[in-house]
Amino acid sequence: MREYLRDIVKCVKCGRCRTVCPSQQVQGWESSGARGRMLMALGMAFGLEPSNSLITSILTCTTCQQCVTECPSGADPHQVTRAARRELVALGHASPHQIEMQERIGNTGNSLGDRSSRTAWLTETQVPGDSGYVYFAGCLASYRYQSTAAATYGILKRFGVGLLEDEQCCGSPLFRLGLDASDLIAHNSRQIKAAGAHTVIVGCAGCYSMLKEQYQGFDVLHLSEFLAERLDELCTRRLDISVTYHDPCHLGRAYGIYDAPRKVIEEICTLVEMDASREKASCCGGGGGVRLGYPELSGSMAGELKENIPAGIDYVVTSCPLCFRNLSDTGVKVLDLADLVWMAIE
Ligand code: SF4
Ligand code: SF4
Repeated sequence: MREYLRDIVKCVKCGRCRTVCPSQQVQGWESSGARGRMLMALGMAFGLEPSNSLITSILTCTTCQQCVTECPSGADPHQVTRAARRELVALGHASPHQIEMQERIGNTGNSLGDRSSRTAWLTETQVPGDSGYVYFAGCLASYRYQSTAAATYGILKRFGVGLLEDEQCCGSPLFRLGLDASDLIAHNSRQIKAAGAHTVIVGCAGCYSMLKEQYQGFDVLHLSEFLAERLDELCTRRLDISVTYHDPCHLGRAYGIYDAPRKVIEEICTLVEMDASREKASCCGGGGGVRLGYPELSGSMAGELKENIPAGIDYVVTSCPLCFRNLSDTGVKVLDLADLVWMAIE
């Protein structure tokens, strides 16, 4: 961690992040928040032997970046935490869920460890196009939310968007957990090049940030960005429902994509904002491997977010299948943005 000392000492220990860090808000301990994690990382930089509580502290960060948004001194605890994860793995302290994720992806090419076809959702009528745009479906849509994958591609194929011959996990689950994703990056990059694509379109916030951050040689668009520029061509009808929108951390805070999904939603139905939205949006609790490794904590964070949902709305719309999954588990009615658009087209 020595090479991160400059980043670590940017933390002046003011404690402002305590008010926003979702894992600290649920757990309460200093070690469960951004400031505590920065202290742990400082200890690691000076050879502190990792204890179980240090490892838990480092692994219970959802990588939501609320601390980054709030920090007055420009510290980035989420980057430091990810570096600490890499160091823990290098020191031989990989946790059971890190090992499980590595094995799932190593054995099957997807984060679910699912051995069935990745494109089982693709119907005969959905013929891949060759417009230079490709749809990257991601693991969750491909295996768990196949109707969302089919809806997304049903919309995109109208614009001649194609698919990859052999898409695999984007690598985000490994990268966020401090594990090596280079083989997946190389594989998908080859696939994108072979498809002759200049732009990759994704419906998942995790895939979006991974492709933006760790891949090179093509543009990346979230579905909402692609559609917001083509509303006239979508020919949607108005739906008599009201929804609220949950900003996924890796789309909103990480990349400032706030307006595009709202533009699409407002074309279709009534949008009621949550009190805390955009850069202040709460985290669903599912990211950073926390749902896999610490499901109870992850569920509690989703429960905190649920308190923020306006009364009387029909659905919470989101643009990330992991947010969809974690919020659905709280009993909230959730719609992926693609499903909302598909409802308005069909
Ligand atoms: S990370 Fe930033 S906000 Fe949190 S205690 Fe350190 S300086 Fe303050
Ligand atoms: S990224 Fe989110 S969970 Fe992690 S330390 Fe920052 S506020 Fe807390």
